Amino acid sequence: MKQITRKSLLYKSGLGFWCINHVQGCSHGCRYPCYAWMMADSRRRVDSYEEWCRPALVSNAEELLEKELNRMRTRPDSIHLCLTTDPFMYGFPDVTALTLRLIELINSFGISCSTLTKGIMPVELADTSRFPEANTHGISLVSLDEDFRNRWEPGAAHYSERIGALRELHDYGCRTLVHIEPYPTPNIITQSLQKLLEAVAFADEIWLGGWNYNDLSKNYPGYKNFYEEQSAILNRFLAARQTS
Ligand code: SF4
Repeated sequence: MKQITRKSLLYKSGLGFWCINHVQGCSHGCRYPCYAWMMADSRRRVDSYEEWCRPALVSNAEELLEKELNRMRTRPDSIHLCLTTDPFMYGFPDVTALTLRLIELINSFGISCSTLTKGIMPVELADTSRFPEANTHGISLVSLDEDFRNRWEPGAAHYSERIGALRELHDYGCRTLVHIEPYPTPNIITQSLQKLLEAVAFADEIWLGGWNYNDLSKNYPGYKNFYEEQSAILNRFLAARQTS
């Protein structure tokens, strides 16, 4: 796997939370399109989509992060992995291994982590002797239809594997999250949000967000009503879960 070095790793994102991205590029190659790919392309960090899909590991990530955490006067309560790449990239064990070492390092400073992936969460994350902080592990999931995945998230993990790995962590007592975003309108795919919710009903948190990366969803007549209805479905589902 290609390697690069960086001058810094830890930063506060525009969304207000602290974050690290210890890989450049992402083999999942999402075609919504991926916001991180658009940024990398506009800043000329990569020459092509094909290059974006050939990830490069930040070889000095551990060394950098340790220095940065040691230097901080006030450390954050939590650090997110990742905003511009995937921490458990499907078919890249070197990425997963480095991610686990970085979470271990962050936890050793008494800081918790949140993770978000379209890959496979490794079961090692449930090892509380190695990861003692209250970490939250999440998957990004917008469909259960493999044809949709092949079209829009061609390099990402199959949905059943993605959900199965998260479910295993849940069963071991980890806090889990499902991020349903960018949720497609029916002109992209006709599907049932209810079925998707039932497949991940075990998760501690479920979030829903619209398809905002391009105008495809806005081409659907009544797309605002559609998203209001989907939000209502999610709210009813969460309310019913609380009372059951
Ligand atoms: S998984 Fe995330 S970072 Fe990777 S290509 Fe898809 S949207 Fe981009």
